[in-house]
Amino acid sequence: MNNVIIIGSGCAGLTAAIYAGRANLKPVVIDGFEPGGQLSLTTMVENFPGFPEGILGPDLIENMRKQAQRFGTEFKAGVITEVDLSKRPFTIKTAKETFETRTLIVAAGASARMIGLESERKLIGYGVSTCATCDGYFFRGKEIAVVGGGDTAMEEANFLSKFASRVHLLHRRNEFRASKIMVDRARSNEKIRFVTPVVVEDISDVSKGGVENVKLRNAETNEISTLPVEGVFIAIGHEPNTKVFRGQLDMDENGYLITNNGSKTNVPGVFAAGDVQDHHYRQAITAAGSGCMAALDAERFIDAHKDA
Ligand code: NAP
Repeated sequence: MNNVIIIGSGCAGLTAAIYAGRANLKPVVIDGFEPGGQLSLTTMVENFPGFPEGILGPDLIENMRKQAQRFGTEFKAGVITEVDLSKRPFTIKTAKETFETRTLIVAAGASARMIGLESERKLIGYGVSTCATCDGYFFRGKEIAVVGGGDTAMEEANFLSKFASRVHLLHRRNEFRASKIMVDRARSNEKIRFVTPVVVEDISDVSKGGVENVKLRNAETNEISTLPVEGVFIAIGHEPNTKVFRGQLDMDENGYLITNNGSKTNVPGVFAAGDVQDHHYRQAITAAGSGCMAALDAERFIDAHKDA
């Protein structure tokens, strides 16, 4: 029987593990399918407090992992296939193992939706980014592209125009899913150039380890063109990793877990932290903060249900 199982090993899950470990709860972290979460997919992180020179995302995550291990966290590889939260102890299954636990912290994160190009995958962290707040600063004075037609794309294009010399907003349709006010704001920004209806077919140059241009196909005429840019921000939405909790944990219409009163979900003893319950801030530091809250909430829950 475990005191606390933490699903997810990104910033939120590892912070929860550090706190739960220091409370002597011997937490077990189940890594999930993206061990280390989104920070492990980025390069330099300059906005996590405490690192005046910045720190590489994978190094930051590795440090957190070691810190959690130091306080007795056990790590298990694997993806959750099934959960039963209808009674305590809760049952959590991976392909290989079944766990029972008094409390559960869901820190499974949200994955940025990707276009699906091999070049995009290879250049992530090397000119391709899914986070304008994290990486915009690196593109001062450069021409960049933002892909997407929703509110996030508009917001990121506006934000990035503070740094970039020019932002090309690439969208596959002439109509926008984004709200009118957000589109109007982007249109009135003279640094933003709308390019529609285009599909990104490729990002070059993988062999040079950096972004030099994107290959575009006009969705109406099929005409191919090349746009020179030094950065590409993918802003086509996120998917919270919550499918396995459907019907058991309350979620909003986009699948994000709903938390109340700190990190509490609708099931007593189940807590949620990080991007799996936050589509608004999505920062490493906010994820870490909510991981801390979830661990404190789990500790208090265990104290209050000692005989259960
Ligand atoms: P979204 O509304 O789902 O929009 C995703 C956009 O990406 C759509 O334009 C979609 O094109 C495009 N797209 C999806 N898959 C693609 C692919 N494979 N290749 C190329 N393009 C693709 O996502 P979001 O913009 O992240 O917004 C998510 C939610 O957060 C929304 O409810 C939004 O209103 C909210 N939000 C609000 C604000 C704000 O109000 N300040 C800011 C950010 C987000 P199609 O339109 O052609 O499908």
